[in-house]
Amino acid sequence: MSVAVMLFTSDLRLHDQPALQAALRGADEVVPLFVLDPGIRKAGFDAPNRRAFLADCLVSLDAGLHERGGRLVIRTGHVTEQVCRVVAETGARAVHIAAGVSGYAVRREEQLRSALAAVRCALHVHDGVVTALPPGRVTPGGRDHFAVFSAYFRRWEAAGLRGAMAAPRSLRVPELAGHPLPRRTAVTGVSPGLAKGGELEGRRRLSAWLADTDAGIAAYAERHDDLPGDATSRLSPHLHFGTLSATELVHRARRKGGPGADAFVRQLAWRDFHHQVLAARPEAAHADYRTRGDHWRTDEKAISAWKDGRTGCPIVDAAMRQLLHEGWMHNRGRLLTASYLTKTLYVDWRIGARHFLDLLVDGDIANNQLNWQWVAGTGTDTRPNRVLNPLAQAKRFDPQGDYVRRWVPELAQLAGPAVHQPWKLDGLDRARLDYPDPLVEPAEGRARFERARGLH
Ligand SMILES: Cc1cc2nc3c(=O)[nH]c(=O)nc-3n(C[C@H](O)[C@H](O)[C@H](O)COP(=O)(O)OP(=O)(O)OC[C@H]3O[C@@H](n4cnc5c(N)ncnc54)[C@H](O)[C@@H]3O)c2cc1C
Repeated sequence: MSVAVMLFTSDLRLHDQPALQAALRGADEVVPLFVLDPGIRKAGFDAPNRRAFLADCLVSLDAGLHERGGRLVIRTGHVTEQVCRVVAETGARAVHIAAGVSGYAVRREEQLRSALAAVRCALHVHDGVVTALPPGRVTPGGRDHFAVFSAYFRRWEAAGLRGAMAAPRSLRVPELAGHPLPRRTAVTGVSPGLAKGGELEGRRRLSAWLADTDAGIAAYAERHDDLPGDATSRLSPHLHFGTLSATELVHRARRKGGPGADAFVRQLAWRDFHHQVLAARPEAAHADYRTRGDHWRTDEKAISAWKDGRTGCPIVDAAMRQLLHEGWMHNRGRLLTASYLTKTLYVDWRIGARHFLDLLVDGDIANNQLNWQWVAGTGTDTRPNRVLNPLAQAKRFDPQGDYVRRWVPELAQLAGPAVHQPWKLDGLDRARLDYPDPLVEPAEGRARFERARGLH
């Protein structure tokens, strides 16, 4: 009886799961294994929101495996040691894992490769599980990655993706001890409005979003920037944990067709783009991709106000409070809060990226760090000195102020767009609002940023 181990990582699903399918093809029995590795906590990436969402994902994966005659085996400890233990206990001759791009994933793969070679067990690393197109599949002549999205996207579109795979019908899991599944209710410090995780929930959300003609994929091209309308897919945590496959999403969106589907597929290509940058430049997780010689300001009071949603700039505060409440933020909110921190306050992008990673349920090294760098102008943006004016953003993307009123209750009594400029109220009305004065005038912040970058 031959045995293989399927080590689940950022691919917690049964549908379109090439690594699991390969394991099933190559062995009579498969151990579906997930290792809770304290190394993730030590590295500071074990944020409560992601831990809670992960617990849901593991419960859902176990349920899906049970329906097919199997179960999920949970182990706790250093991932390489635990995999080697399972290999020794079962006599497995192969371990299957999805390729990853973070520093942690690359180190894990190297350690597994040498530890498994020592016991003559093969390691199979599968591309195109975490992203739709594997990093490095398309490259510009003579270079290892694309630095400009538009050029990448042309090649990405032409490259052609593999077909999506059905979930396996059944599997056999050998007798083996495991630890209990972690439970979401055991995690403390979770955002009160955190979404539910798991493959079943991800597939339900995807189907609903594909079918919704008002705020779903059909309206995505026109409405993806509508802050109060909340008309994006909210699939990012499912992509981060791999409860949905990016490849399957591209195929299903393309089957829908139309401008909304085109715009959505383009966003999925942004995800692949950042993954291929990080794969080629792992240091971009913490170092400027393209340094601009910044000498960032240290202003603890301003940083705390930004984190707490108390900057006195309503649109920024609304988005920061959405993050605190849901562990998720609308993309337009991410853009304008990151621009406010790095360009209006002129604070180091790493401080903002860390705070986002502490809270975001989709918090992802590739997407988070490289989007932060894009906004700060140290990354791949071809216009690195652009500054988003928060008031102009508010008027454009929350014209009636509904998003601000939803998230900043102190301002809920202000009707219409006046909510974006509480500083314009006369003295008494203003004093009655328990809401701070603006930390900085956007024009003043912009002038400071431009001086710092030597633009005039
Ligand atoms: C400062 C900043 C930090 C960010 N941090 C993260 C992060 O940690 N994790 C994360 O997944 N996304 C991050 N993003 C990208 C984007 O904001 C989110 O992916 C998106 O808001 C998720 O919502 P959605 O699923 O409704 O997106 P949709 O608009 O429905 O898009 C569909 C999918 O496309 C991908 N996508 C969309 N926009 C981007 C983008 N700019 N870059 C990469 N992929 C994208 C996501 O996987 C998303 O789920 C960040 C953006 C900024 C500006």
